[in-house]
Amino acid sequence: MAEVMELLKQYLPVTQEPFVLSGDVNTGLVLVDVVNGFCTVGSGNLAPEQHDKQISQMVEESVRLARVFCEKKWHVFAFLDSHHPDIPEHPYPPHCIAGTDESKLVPALQWLENEANVTLRCKDCIDGFLGSLEKDGSNVFVEWVKNNQIKVILVVGICTDICVLDFVCSTLSARNRGFLSPLEDVIVYSGGCATFDLPISVAKTLEDAIAHPQELMHHIGLYMARGRGARVVSEVSVKPL
Ligand SMILES: [Zn+2]
Repeated sequence: MAEVMELLKQYLPVTQEPFVLSGDVNTGLVLVDVVNGFCTVGSGNLAPEQHDKQISQMVEESVRLARVFCEKKWHVFAFLDSHHPDIPEHPYPPHCIAGTDESKLVPALQWLENEANVTLRCKDCIDGFLGSLEKDGSNVFVEWVKNNQIKVILVVGICTDICVLDFVCSTLSARNRGFLSPLEDVIVYSGGCATFDLPISVAKTLEDAIAHPQELMHHIGLYMARGRGARVVSEVSVKPL
């Protein structure tokens, strides 16, 4: 697998630079599905079965950035995957059922529920942009950007190649069509994103399973995001006052 990764990085390179957060540009943090059902060991069908380094690191970085944003009273938007028990989400097994622990923020982020600068959005689809649509046609995410005059969003969460990628693609399309003014930049922080691991050796033993090697798919997710016009960054630091 190490050789495959080397080849992948050679043929599908993802240029990344460090990113410095400053108060100069109005930047919002978007957390994608940092919920138990995807991040906490043993928490349902789509949660890791054992400790997962990439996922743990993603959670740690999400917590670190959420702290920075909340200390500075900058805006945070958090998606929570949340499904009605009778409406399955093809092709996934039941997960993150509304009202269960699976659809709640991970323990290290629970405190976000009480922060004034945080908007929480339950969504019942992969793409958080679509999941922000209300029945009357308004969009909670679009309103968040406009009401807070967000110029840059910094995106972290899970999965790099699924919910993060779909949200980033839709947001970039909406921006390009002029629906998201004054949003200019979409930044994806690689170390703040993670995806799940289903190696080919395991997938072969399961019926109807599609292999999903973690490192490879994480990289491809970043590659796709960059190809659509997102900036991918390797580290996020905070400019000292
Ligand atoms: Zn879901």
